[in-house]
Amino acid sequence: MAVAKKTVLIAHEVEFYPDVFDCTIRDFIEQRERLRLPTDEFRTCYICGRHLQKHRKPIVVNVSGIGNRFACDKCYTEHTSGGMNGEKTEL
Ligand SMILES: [Zn+2]
Repeated sequence: MAVAKKTVLIAHEVEFYPDVFDCTIRDFIEQRERLRLPTDEFRTCYICGRHLQKHRKPIVVNVSGIGNRFACDKCYTEHTSGGMNGEKTEL
């Protein structure tokens, strides 16, 4: 399976990594629960705070000074299109 990896730098130094995980958000959370690791920060979008759809693959955001969090499709699209139609993730 080909993995397309694209990183985009925006304000606050948030980088998007849309195709890092080959599992769903539910799988990821269940894995962490099995390891007794905290999961709350991976249930919602780091940027807008909306609950993430658990059957989707996570879009990872690396936030400077904080670490890896997840973002929703909407924020990913908004922050990577920059008002132009150029940037799209190819699957
Ligand atoms: Zn969002």
